[in-house]
Amino acid sequence: RELPGDTETDNFRRQVYGACYSLVQPTPVKSPRLVAYSPEVAAELGISDQDCLSHDFCQVFAGNRLAAGMLPFAMCYGGHQFGHWAGQLGDGRAINLGEVVCPDGLRRTLQLKGAGPTPYSRSADGLAVLRSSVREFLCSEAMHHLGVPTTRALSLVLTGETVVRDMFYDGNPQLEPGAIVCRVAPSFTRFGNFQIFTARDDLESLKKLADYTIRNDFPELGEPSPKVYLRWFEEVCRLTAEMVVHWQRVGFVHGVMNTDNMSILGLTIDYGPYGWLENYDPDWTPNTTDAQGRRYRFGNQPKIAYWNLVQLANAIYPLVMRAEALQQALSAFSETYEAKWRATMAAKLGFSRFDQDKDQALVGDLLQLLQSAETDMTLFYRQLADIDPYDLAGSGVGFLTMLERNSYASLTEGIRDRALDWFGHYSDRSRSDGSDGAARRQRMNAVNPKYVLRNYLAQLAIDQAEQGDFGLVTELLDTLRKPYSEQPGRERFAEKRPDWAKQRAGCSMLSCSS
Ligand code: AMP
Ligand code: MG
Ligand code: MG
Repeated sequence: RELPGDTETDNFRRQVYGACYSLVQPTPVKSPRLVAYSPEVAAELGISDQDCLSHDFCQVFAGNRLAAGMLPFAMCYGGHQFGHWAGQLGDGRAINLGEVVCPDGLRRTLQLKGAGPTPYSRSADGLAVLRSSVREFLCSEAMHHLGVPTTRALSLVLTGETVVRDMFYDGNPQLEPGAIVCRVAPSFTRFGNFQIFTARDDLESLKKLADYTIRNDFPELGEPSPKVYLRWFEEVCRLTAEMVVHWQRVGFVHGVMNTDNMSILGLTIDYGPYGWLENYDPDWTPNTTDAQGRRYRFGNQPKIAYWNLVQLANAIYPLVMRAEALQQALSAFSETYEAKWRATMAAKLGFSRFDQDKDQALVGDLLQLLQSAETDMTLFYRQLADIDPYDLAGSGVGFLTMLERNSYASLTEGIRDRALDWFGHYSDRSRSDGSDGAARRQRMNAVNPKYVLRNYLAQLAIDQAEQGDFGLVTELLDTLRKPYSEQPGRERFAEKRPDWAKQRAGCSMLSCSS
């Protein structure tokens, strides 16, 4: 059906008090065109491939038309950005179309990103460009297939309109193609949705949203009560810890872990200036805005997640009124994180379990080695599975060659010595673990992906898409659907970053919102 509302009168920018959301209308666009869709997400929603390729689908997911039952809204939220309270933010360029009860019985919300201004757009345009939309579309699907909790992406549509962006902040604005991604998740509620009400002393709305969230997204916890709010918070701590362990496992750096970008379901949300580790470097951040303080660097992600949970604890304090109990619940984060991280590192190295006495040092030494040698994290772990650790004498040289091949720095004599030394300890430890070779390999290949969305690959797909060729977007999507499988003919997507990509814009450093 046609849009019922008026974008001029409904969507005007303002502070919104006493409400969790505002009804809004997507802004119609000139000539939408489908770039890509995710077959798995469509299937989950009960939409056939044929429907995805239809004219109506493109119109709906470009924001030009509404399907029956859709009542679009934008949510009010606040947040701490880079450690400072920022006041009202909200869905400035996201518009929820509504909720679908899917064939599997679960509810999922459909959300357009880049479909025009909302009451929460502040001074920005509510739009998104092709560049950032390709990044969000590909990465959310890649993360899902890697087994990382995440929001999904159904579709990527070009609007046929241009958007003004000052990509290099050099005063030379460029016209870029506009695009819209349809994101899908059980809920898009963020820590900041709760924070905004507490900051405004609007405890009535705080309780309403908390009760709604518990009843809809955590029904197993039972009817809301002070005790249940606590259990709920503990569960959010656990889910968040699990998500961050997965990030550390695959080398994903979110880049903007502000509290408005933290999902209450522990899903990775808001794919902006994220990046993938190439050479292992805990100090790396992909976000140019973060280059000074490096708050959101790879190695700091667990700490920041905890800091964000502390802010959520402050926000729900009025519902619980017991500081020590909230403090106690917070320890669920550290406990979960530590336990899962150990199990993950054991699996990455091929051990059946983490040996508390030996493995802390073994892992610590390895990470230092990878950092000094500037080793490609993904390639290293994947190829470690191919080296026989039980044959110390025979495999040492093979290990060195593998390390050398996958490192961006040339190996000094000192590094080579450390590498051989480490391999000796690894070999001993592998023998004491006693797993058979096939079990070891299988264990490793199930947690160490071969294919990730390398920064430069996303940029190549963007370059082509901007020229009207969507082939690489589709091929990468297809490759990233099976990140743990060998895919003959696609080895070029599992290679070290080429030299040209090191300094190129978009390939390593990105800015916040585009
Ligand atoms: P982000 O840094 O992407 O998490 O965005 C922070 C806030 O800015 C959120 O409230 C976004 O909705 C809003 N925002 C980002 N980009 C835009 C845009 N182009 N138009 C309107 N709001 C935006
Ligand atoms: Mg955001
Ligand atoms: Mg964003």
